[in-house]
Amino acid sequence: MSNSPYRILLFYKFVNIDDAETLTAEHLKYCKDLGIKGRILIAPEGINGTLSGTWEQTEQYMNDLRADARFADMVFKIDESEGHAFKKMFVRHKKELVTFRLEDDVNPNELTGKHLSPKEFYEQLQQEDVIVIDGRNDYEYDIGHFRGAIRPGVESSREFPEWIRENLSEYKDKKILTYCTGGVRCEKLSGFLMKEGFNDVAQLDGGIVTYSKDPEVQGRLFDGKCYVFDERISVPINHTDEDVIVGKCYHCEEPTDHYINCPVCNLQHIVCDSCEDEHEHFCSDACREKVQTAAAL
Ligand SMILES: [Zn+2]
Ligand SMILES: [Zn+2]
Repeated sequence: MSNSPYRILLFYKFVNIDDAETLTAEHLKYCKDLGIKGRILIAPEGINGTLSGTWEQTEQYMNDLRADARFADMVFKIDESEGHAFKKMFVRHKKELVTFRLEDDVNPNELTGKHLSPKEFYEQLQQEDVIVIDGRNDYEYDIGHFRGAIRPGVESSREFPEWIRENLSEYKDKKILTYCTGGVRCEKLSGFLMKEGFNDVAQLDGGIVTYSKDPEVQGRLFDGKCYVFDERISVPINHTDEDVIVGKCYHCEEPTDHYINCPVCNLQHIVCDSCEDEHEHFCSDACREKVQTAAAL
């Protein structure tokens, strides 16, 4: 069926996990023994993970996880890969899967936006008077997003509640569409919007990743690439001839969607090839000089 020896899995489920802390420790040991790599979060409200492994390892992982009754209906998004997409295996216990830190938390199993299939989302994107909210962070939006989507003014999910209250209140009677990478963030974001009094809220089921794989829509109306939290950094989404580059070089504003981290201050920034050479991967002269000064001492 495939020529790639490795696969990358992406999955989540909101489900009550009473023994989240114990499960975290057990699951870390299990994952290490299996030999997979990636990042899995376990909270009392559910599980969210992305990991890489060989075909056999990932098959084993999916079977083993589904053998737990709580995760029996787990949906896995699967990408093929030439190798591991992560350096290490992390399993972390968190208070929330999606950190909103609300006084009165949203349980997506009780309150969440209507789930739209890729085709339904594609059709509703084109309707008049629709407000499209990108449910990710600003740096993810900057290399690719749905056409017409509002750029989220947030660097992390926990900033969403305040940003929404301050910027989107005027849209409470409009039709709202939300989307994120794999769907987990929208489960909570769309529920929060409904709780705040937005009347008509729908979310892209399975996120951008699922939308990209849909044989009918083929990623249409998504401009640029999708940021991913593994070593690939970004993946192509739009498989039609309307694919474009939306990122801009931090130094010269040339269109590009190549993200790097400054070796000194760790600033993640978009660079074009020539600026990456010219600035030697540094975000600024100040950062470059720090290294030169250190070397001269
Ligand atoms: Zn440049
Ligand atoms: Zn820097």
